[in-house]
Amino acid sequence: MTIRLAVPYIQKDSIVDGEGIRSVIWTQGCPHHCPGCHNPETHSFTDGYEVEIENLFEELDKLESQNGITFSGGDPMMQPEACTLLARYGRKRGLDIWCYTGFKYEELIEMSKYKPAILDFLKEIDVLIDGKFMLEQKSFDVIFRGSKNQRIIDIPKSLETKKTILISKYDNIEKNNKGRKNHYMYV
Ligand code: SF4
Repeated sequence: MTIRLAVPYIQKDSIVDGEGIRSVIWTQGCPHHCPGCHNPETHSFTDGYEVEIENLFEELDKLESQNGITFSGGDPMMQPEACTLLARYGRKRGLDIWCYTGFKYEELIEMSKYKPAILDFLKEIDVLIDGKFMLEQKSFDVIFRGSKNQRIIDIPKSLETKKTILISKYDNIEKNNKGRKNHYMYV
């Protein structure tokens, strides 16, 4: 299986794409076209690089001193099958899984009724940051997010309770320069 990526390798040592030191997988392709998106080059579903999953498994095998994997993009939910395999592989190596998406969690649950691979991927995710980047709600004060409408969601608890369970511990954390992330910015 292949996955289309904006960056053809796993970017190590990020400290702005979730808690801890993280390895980021930048997927290519996004249907949301949010005004103010910092990575419009990731929107196309034909640009970027088609990468063999096996090659990324080998990169995951070589990772050291990383707390987890973050899927970003683009929108990783547009390639749920490949992302599921990568997330599962990472979890077996003790890495936790964060994912950014422009869809809302409730939309993903609805979509999974006709595309079950989305639910498969959700089951491998610990933390989901959901919702489009909204320029009018852009903020440098909300950690790990670019705009205030975006939510940080505990996916295992949400799936278990069939409710959307937010992770409130991030609400009162002031961003410092290291924690500053403008949604999906990787350059
Ligand atoms: S901000 Fe994120 S969800 Fe919105 S268009 Fe850009 S990559 Fe897609």
